[in-house]
Amino acid sequence: MASHLQYRDFIIVGMLFRKQKDQQCGKISGLKDNWIYLQDGTLMAGRLQIFSNWSPSMVKDEETIWVGLENFCRDTDPVRNKEPEMMIQLALEEIKKTGLINKEELLDATVIKVPNAYPSYIGAYEQFPLLQKFLDGFQNLYLIGRNGMHRYNNTDHSMTTAMIAVENIIQNKKSRDNIWAVNMEKDFHEEKKG
Ligand SMILES: Cc1cc2nc3c(=O)[nH]c(=O)nc-3n(C[C@H](O)[C@H](O)[C@H](O)COP(=O)(O)OP(=O)(O)OC[C@H]3O[C@@H](n4cnc5c(N)ncnc54)[C@H](O)[C@@H]3O)c2cc1C
Repeated sequence: MASHLQYRDFIIVGMLFRKQKDQQCGKISGLKDNWIYLQDGTLMAGRLQIFSNWSPSMVKDEETIWVGLENFCRDTDPVRNKEPEMMIQLALEEIKKTGLINKEELLDATVIKVPNAYPSYIGAYEQFPLLQKFLDGFQNLYLIGRNGMHRYNNTDHSMTTAMIAVENIIQNKKSRDNIWAVNMEKDFHEEKKG
């Protein structure tokens, strides 16, 4: 059953552009967003990151802008096996299609593929409680984190599960219920509050 759990892969095409001072020409250069979800069904990419907006230290030269075009896919999707040069070409075409890149000059590009980046709640996941019960039976095994729990945990959840596991070991607590209780609340943690 465990071997039938499904995932989504992640491919990011990083592109370094020279900024355009004239914002009519270079829309992306004038943006303050860290990331933008791309809701256009004609594009393969699903999200755009502007790394140099997270921190200026992400670029060596402040006249440049580091952009990442992100694709979420399955290992059976044709995009999964494209050569890096083709992925860069495709990303460049797609980012131009958004209208955000106009005259920016591409200085460098790289492709990073992360298999099994996102645990999926489809297919064999329905029977996950069986697997959970079986694995919780091993007293010297603690399932924590994202892929360890096959749960869409963020970094804070993953660290919390690790801290609870350590506390359980110190206190010789046998139940793993307090670990599985992490990230079960309905709040969405990326929402802006206040
Ligand atoms: C594309 C992407 C974007 C994300 N964005 C965010 C975000 O914006 N905010 C956020 O909070 N979270 C984000 N996350 C989620 C976050 O990265 C994870 O929740 C977190 O890293 C999970 O921590 P972990 O310790 O479970 O696993 P990981 O950080 O994946 O660590 C597992 C480690 O184990 C190593 N490993 C694997 N197998 C073995 C083995 N057999 N032997 C030895 N070592 C092994 C791996 O190399 C890895 O270093 C994102 C994740 C992805 C993939």
